[in-house]
Amino acid sequence: MSPKDDHCPDPQLTAILRHELNRQRSKLEMIASENFVSEAVLRFGGSVFTNKYSEGYPDNRYYGGCEWADELESLCQARAKKLFGCEHVNVQPHCGSSANMAAFFSVLKPGETILGMNLAHGGHLTHGAPVSFSGQLYKTSFYGVREDTELIDYDDLLAKAEATRPKLIIAGGSAYPRIIDFNKFREAADRVKAYLMVDMAHFAGLVAAGLFPSPVPLADIVTTTTHKTLRGPRGGMILCRKSLAKAIDEQIFPGIQGGPLMHIVAAKAAALAEALEPDFIDYQRQIVKNSQRLATHLIDAGYRLVSGGTDTHLILVDLRSKKLTGQAAEKALDKAGVTANKNAIPFDRQSYAVTSGLRLGTAALTTRGLVEKDMDVVADYIIEALRHHEDDARLSKIRQRVEDFTKKFPLYPNLDF
Ligand SMILES: *Cc1c(COP(=O)(O)O)cnc(C)c1O
Repeated sequence: MSPKDDHCPDPQLTAILRHELNRQRSKLEMIASENFVSEAVLRFGGSVFTNKYSEGYPDNRYYGGCEWADELESLCQARAKKLFGCEHVNVQPHCGSSANMAAFFSVLKPGETILGMNLAHGGHLTHGAPVSFSGQLYKTSFYGVREDTELIDYDDLLAKAEATRPKLIIAGGSAYPRIIDFNKFREAADRVKAYLMVDMAHFAGLVAAGLFPSPVPLADIVTTTTHKTLRGPRGGMILCRKSLAKAIDEQIFPGIQGGPLMHIVAAKAAALAEALEPDFIDYQRQIVKNSQRLATHLIDAGYRLVSGGTDTHLILVDLRSKKLTGQAAEKALDKAGVTANKNAIPFDRQSYAVTSGLRLGTAALTTRGLVEKDMDVVADYIIEALRHHEDDARLSKIRQRVEDFTKKFPLYPNLDF
């Protein structure tokens, strides 16, 4: 194959890509950590910058030919700073996990203590789980939610901080549907002289739109992914004060990464420009309206939602009253054309492989153009599929209806593979 080939020369690979595009088009994507990027983000992410090595930072590279990479990265940084109002940003993390790793490395030595949110209560693997580097390199301690309200137990946070004297406290998670009070976290961190890191991977889009309090003024370090509610390419970013800028930058490169993915930096810059447009606020508002509408339907159908509802794009359904597991729900929904994931709920008695919860998110569907009245239809599909979760014939009929329904919301109409 010569690099000049501009039509698809690889039928085997093309077939896989076609199937994936068709899967995304014809199913309802409700994984809370996923979204659909714009065609512009897709294009910049697949650009010639994939060819370029540019280890280092703008105007300080280890390779020649970086003049346009410099322009690109500086533009991306400027847009991120404008959007989030931070003093410094590193746009090179390949993913949220490497952003977190670099953040930890910049302020912690192995063996020091971190305090993060309990994974089973909505935290993230990289916040101290034993299977993650974070649980292997550091002493870990965890705070959780209250059993009665399922809201973060700020008294527990303070008590754990005082008992374990962490060097770093982490706020944020991947299955917590509510607003977080970062002031309480700052107080706890100040009390024990710990750094405060906020991992806003899930709710960064809401923060950008002003619908979730910004952690930037209060946290020492803010990490994020760029591909969840922020609707950019898969990747990460770290925002911090000037005083930590050098330490953070050195930990991303040369600390844990080599050359940045400049095509992804281009796609990040494109996504940040979109997030700076006024209609991004409308988009984020619609995400929350859609998840609240869906929450209402689920409650009406007799489902209990963890914390009783949602302030965000994310809903965590407690399936126990319906004698269903997360695993069974995920499977049934998949057969019906709804893609979501099982998730532990606080105080879950089931294993992580089974779980008693189902996590649903509305960021991707909202990108496709669904509004509240469409969520009424989506809620019907979900409720019917869960009710008949063992009836394959019924589920495949729902699958047909879902497929017809998705045709009303074209996804990448100009794209073919
Ligand atoms: C998704 C997520 C991450 C990790 O992101 P990856 O890009 O998959 O590495 C980190 N922290 C939180 C809170 C997340 O939700």
